[in-house]
Amino acid sequence: MQIENAVVLVTGGNRGLGRAIAAEAVARGARKVYAAARDPRTVTNPDVVPLALDVTDPESVAEAARVASDVTVLVNNAASLVNADFLDSDVEEVRREFETNFYGPLRLTRAFVPSIIDNGGGHVLNINSALSWLGISGSYSASKAALWSMTNSLRLQLLPRGVGVTGLHVGYIDTDMSAHVDAPKISPEDVARQAIDGIEAGAFEVLADETSRRVRGGLSASVDAMYPQLGAA
Ligand code: NDP
Repeated sequence: MQIENAVVLVTGGNRGLGRAIAAEAVARGARKVYAAARDPRTVTNPDVVPLALDVTDPESVAEAARVASDVTVLVNNAASLVNADFLDSDVEEVRREFETNFYGPLRLTRAFVPSIIDNGGGHVLNINSALSWLGISGSYSASKAALWSMTNSLRLQLLPRGVGVTGLHVGYIDTDMSAHVDAPKISPEDVARQAIDGIEAGAFEVLADETSRRVRGGLSASVDAMYPQLGAA
C-alpha cells in the first residue's frame, strides 16, 4: 500500500520514534496523521492531529477508535522500558510492562482493525526490538517477544482481509528510552523512513539496523562486542 492518501495513527506520537514516524508519514503525503499521546498537549507538530490515548486504558482506546474511525494505518509504537529483573521484580511490575507493550497493541489492534477493513484495508505496524530475541531486559524483552508472536499470528489472520501486518525490529534508537545505554544508536528519522518503507512494501518483518539483523540471524562476533555481558555465550 502507499502512505499517500493513508490515514495514519501513531501511538506515543508526541516524542521519540513515534514523533519521527508521524512526521515521516506527513512528509510522504499521508492524508491525515493522528499523533496519539497520553497528554495531547505534548504533541507539538502542527501538521498532525493530536489525539488523547492511554494504551493501557480500555475506555481511552475505545474513545480514540470512535474519534479516529477513518484510520487505515495503525502504528503501535508506545512502550515502556522498566527493565525488570525477573528474580528481583514482583509479578505486578512485570504485568504493568505487559499492559503497555503487549496488551496495549492488542487493544489497539482489536479496536481499529474493524474500521481499517471498513475503510478498504490497510496496515498495522508493530514497533519491536532486537531485545525480543535477546533477553537482556527482563520483562521488556518478554513483552516484546510476546508482541512479535502476536504480530506473526495477526499477519496470517489479517492478510486475507486486506490488512498487512509488519514487525519492525531495531537495536538501539537515539531517544529518551535508550539514553542510559552506551551502544551504537540509529536516528529516529532513519528508523521512521524504514518503518514507512516497510508498510509500503507490505514487508513481513523489517530489520532496521545491523544489530537487529545480526541478533535475528544468531549471535555473532559483533553482537558479542556490543553486549559484553553475554561473554562467550
Ligand atoms: P520513548 O521512551 O522516547 O517514548 C515512549 C513513548 O511511548 C512516549 O510517547 C510515551 O508517552 C509513550 N507511552 C508510554 N506509555 C504509554 C501509554 N500507557 N499510553 C500511551 N503512550 C504511552 O521511546 P522510543 O521512542 O525510543 O520508543 C518507541 C518504540 O521503539 C517503542 O515501542 C520501543 O520499545 C521501540 N524501540 C526503542 C528502542 C530504543 O533504543 N529507544 C530500540 C528498539 C525498539 P509519554 O510522553 O506520555 O510518556
